[in-house]
Amino acid sequence: MPSLPLSPIRTGGKPARISDHRLEVDGLTFEVHRSDRRKTLQITVERSGELSIVAPSQVTDQHLIDFVEEKLLWIHTKIEEKARLQERAPVKEFVEGEGFLYLGKSYRLRLVEKQLVDLSLKNGRFCLRRSSIHRGRDAFISWYARRAQQWFEKQVTEHATRMGVQVKEVKVQDLGFRWGSFGSDGRISFHWKAILLPPRIVQYVMVHELAHAHHPDHSSSFWIKVEQHLPDWRWRKTWLAENGIQVEGL
Ligand SMILES: [Zn+2]
Repeated sequence: MPSLPLSPIRTGGKPARISDHRLEVDGLTFEVHRSDRRKTLQITVERSGELSIVAPSQVTDQHLIDFVEEKLLWIHTKIEEKARLQERAPVKEFVEGEGFLYLGKSYRLRLVEKQLVDLSLKNGRFCLRRSSIHRGRDAFISWYARRAQQWFEKQVTEHATRMGVQVKEVKVQDLGFRWGSFGSDGRISFHWKAILLPPRIVQYVMVHELAHAHHPDHSSSFWIKVEQHLPDWRWRKTWLAENGIQVEGL
């Protein structure tokens, strides 16, 4: 048994439980994805603190539990790290030279005296009207939301047809910890923050949500669907889990 100083819930031999796609160990719940293509076990701690494991299909439940128990210290450390990062996400200041992301690139801020709109992106600079500084955050959010709406509408139209999905409406809003969601009513929603991510990552977010039209869960059939349209989805998913946090703090 490994020593587990970081675990708050350890009750000394609390039995691990496994059901369909869920594994509970030491008070932690993991979503389990099995795949024939998978050769090794991998644990991911999402930015929201959610946990998932991808595993080769033939791995036994006991092997999964042993693997998780061995990694408990690492998992708890990761969870704490994410929580700390979330607390310390740098808050942007609306001053000359501050960098703001858009589709994975950082653009510096310029404060301008005269401009018809609060905010614009011109010649590689975000231009914020000086008289609008006090509502800088709102100006950025509505700028991002507008761009996100355009980007997703165009891309969803293209990909939905290819993925055999009927989309009724594309919505962009603040989704809290989620990047996107697919409603049973055919409405697909994305967080406005997604437009700050690099294009290949935004694309993964979109394909992920479109695949939910076929499979509402994260079962292996879901991931097969994602893979059909985005064969290299794995690195994109990992990138998002590890770096998505950077887009916080506006
Ligand atoms: Zn999902």
